[in-house]
Amino acid sequence: MPKWIFVTGGVLSGLGKGLVSASVSKLLQQRELDITPVKCDGYLNVDPGTMNPHEHGEVFVLSDGTEVDMDFGHYERFLGIETTGDCNLTSGKVFSEVIDRERKGDYLGETVQMVPHVTEEIKENWKEAVDDSDIGIVEIGGTVGDIENMLYLEAVRQIINDLPDEDTYLIHTTLVPYLETTGEQKTKPTQHSVKKLRETGLSPDMIVGRSRKPLQSSVVEKISLFCDVEEQEVISDHDIDNIYRLPLIFDEQNVDTIIKDEMELPERNNGIKDWRERVENLASEPLGTVAICGKYMAMDDAYASVEEALKHAAAEKGGSVEIQHVETEDIDLSQLEKFDGVVIPGGFGSRGVEGKIKAVEYCRENNVPILGLCYGMQLMVVEFSRNVLNLDAASEEFEKGEEDLVVAEMSEQKNIEHKGGTMRLGDYTAEVKGQVKQIYGSKKVTERHRHRYEVNPDYHGRLEENGLKISGKMEDGTLAEYVELPDNRFFIGTQAHPEFNSSFQNPNPLYTEFINSIL
Ligand code: GLN
Repeated sequence: MPKWIFVTGGVLSGLGKGLVSASVSKLLQQRELDITPVKCDGYLNVDPGTMNPHEHGEVFVLSDGTEVDMDFGHYERFLGIETTGDCNLTSGKVFSEVIDRERKGDYLGETVQMVPHVTEEIKENWKEAVDDSDIGIVEIGGTVGDIENMLYLEAVRQIINDLPDEDTYLIHTTLVPYLETTGEQKTKPTQHSVKKLRETGLSPDMIVGRSRKPLQSSVVEKISLFCDVEEQEVISDHDIDNIYRLPLIFDEQNVDTIIKDEMELPERNNGIKDWRERVENLASEPLGTVAICGKYMAMDDAYASVEEALKHAAAEKGGSVEIQHVETEDIDLSQLEKFDGVVIPGGFGSRGVEGKIKAVEYCRENNVPILGLCYGMQLMVVEFSRNVLNLDAASEEFEKGEEDLVVAEMSEQKNIEHKGGTMRLGDYTAEVKGQVKQIYGSKKVTERHRHRYEVNPDYHGRLEENGLKISGKMEDGTLAEYVELPDNRFFIGTQAHPEFNSSFQNPNPLYTEFINSIL
């Protein structure tokens, strides 16, 4: 039987509950506990795959092909584990399961209601996801008081009621703002959000206060008094130089020891030495500067996994990496001169695409290291077809009607009517050769995918004859998975997203080699 840690949030969203969950989990993992993270979102989309990443942040893809909330990126990167689609619940998924059951007749004779039917469905889902792990850590998205998260909180209440005290623990994350005029940290928003939490029948065991500076001791005392938690259970989550430092900050405040005592967990601790070294590497001088050439909006998390994978690789090499965003809608190539390497990330649609193609051309001609990811690789192929094969080339996705669709939809994709969850998703294995084989140290490479279009097999021959080596293909020999220009320092594109397979203590080889090439 697993024990349960619940993580809720108050005051406002975007406080980094996912990072709190991941950091607490990391510390407990050092205690040799098997942790399964679960994330619950209130929205009615069945999965986030159909949402705009520039509004909601990147869509993360699991190896089983499920498109999930970007917090799963934090969980996997911190814990070095693979999660499954069962671990991400959305209201859309829960309701559609309940309605399916009702139609099948599973509840014959009953009035199907939010409580107990929907809450039972939520609890069933949690139990299935966590299975026989030691601890399920369940993060409830949004903030307390949101209509759409009420049912999750009610399910939390029921579990806490049903189980002995030591089997559950509730961490509430809030904001502790700093008032410039008086130079004080203010606790009122925290007090109000704990009141809101209590209205749902829940009381926090630990309060994590997100703040600019470490929490002042008077603030800790006040939160403890008004919110009825021990002072040692008021935890400071202040601004830090990099997210991987959070487990260290929590370690200093004995977060895992407190939880261990309260939950009666076994007495073991391996320490967090290797982690600490990597965190300090990231705090050191950059080894180089990399441009991510993409489409940008304010407050953008759309390329989170790419940025983190670059950092993992740099930390492995003993340093940090400076990452800058280059908007490709109005790119001026002289902007690229100061960079040691360029990444063309995944993407959709035609906006900014010509700028990305120009950036590929610049890197190819000037032998600047370039990594093309998914759309990035497709655009490498378009660029090469235009400028080396002299074709009027495009991807079918540009919808411009060019003659040579060197990137196109294959027949299975053409017949698809529903857009949700129907891309080529999750793990696929490629047979590789050339530099790619050397980099991975293996003939077969499995990475995660998320795309509809493919390098058109009708052009494979011409691309190869002219020097763009297709250095990885699907095992059945049909689809292109990797391309490379062997004479350039690093010119590699992949149809996959290796960034989804990179964790802080185990970086992805392709990223590590890319960082190597910019040194
Ligand atoms: N838009 C491209 C496709 O669907 C690439 C997708 C991506 O970069 N993830 O094939």
